[in-house]
Amino acid sequence: MSIELSIEFFPPHTDDGVEKLRLTRQRLAVLKPEFFSVTYGAGGSTRERTLAVVKEIAAEGHDAAPHLSCIGSTRAGIRELLAEFSDSGIRRIVALRGDLPSGMVDAGEFRHANELVGFIRAETGDRFRIEVAAYPEWHPQAKSPREDLLNFKRKIDAGANSAITQYFYNADAYEHFVDEAIALGIIVPIVPGIMPVASFSKLARFSDACGAEIPRWMRRKFESYGDDADSVRAFGLDVVTELCQRLVECGAPGLHFYSMNQAGPTLELCRRLELLGR
Ligand code: FAD
Repeated sequence: MSIELSIEFFPPHTDDGVEKLRLTRQRLAVLKPEFFSVTYGAGGSTRERTLAVVKEIAAEGHDAAPHLSCIGSTRAGIRELLAEFSDSGIRRIVALRGDLPSGMVDAGEFRHANELVGFIRAETGDRFRIEVAAYPEWHPQAKSPREDLLNFKRKIDAGANSAITQYFYNADAYEHFVDEAIALGIIVPIVPGIMPVASFSKLARFSDACGAEIPRWMRRKFESYGDDADSVRAFGLDVVTELCQRLVECGAPGLHFYSMNQAGPTLELCRRLELLGR
């Protein structure tokens, strides 16, 4: 199967976490991902840690893509960071608005991700390949699906090269989103974000917050396993494998794995999808 893969990490808080992530990356390198991306805490809370991890990834010879969220930031601050990325050999950025952390009131100089994309293009031309976020089940703050789609288009029109979606478990939502995007003239690749299921309670909490739906049939089944972690994992793997198979069949241009800094679930999914040893 020929399909591009990318894998997302978060920047660890501890030295131990940094070391574990090195091992995780070594294990995941067999998948020959197009790039490893590293999240960025809203309001710049992980600025240094994100930068340290992407520099390390780049030094290992992989394509590293820092996420960059603009809410709470100034133009001068973003300009400085773009220069650091550039000096570190970074050529790809995942450009986001982010969410203002609780307690932080100053929204800064950017309101939406399209402004960040436009700023990066104005400041650095074509130096960076820019990825943006897409929401097949719609962003939780969107006024309407139509508005959300038009706002997605603003990011592409501002110069984004491709998109990575929020995770979802309903392939119809992705297919519908892609069809609507194409109908609006959006031709960039829209890569589905894949979230393996490690713990159902954590996933349920996170999904409620980010607006991703866990379909009722899945939720009821996960709940029925209670504390039986092995059954949760086994069912989660089956469901996500089938989802990926369907996405690939319907023409998804790639798969972006939210690894949660774990190698095992992503490797097992790729083994089942016959993507190992590509
Ligand atoms: P936007 O595209 O700005 O959209 C946010 C909302 O505003 C939407 O409802 C949209 O419809 C509306 N909107 C957009 N543009 C306009 C406009 N011009 N006028 C009016 N309304 C508008 N968060 C982090 O903090 N760090 C990360 O590293 C991170 N990585 C992510 C990676 C991926 C692949 C995804 C899907 C999400 C990620 N997030 C991350 C979460 C993201 O920051 C949140 O979902 C955030 O709420 C929206 O960011 P955005 O870039 O999609 O914002």
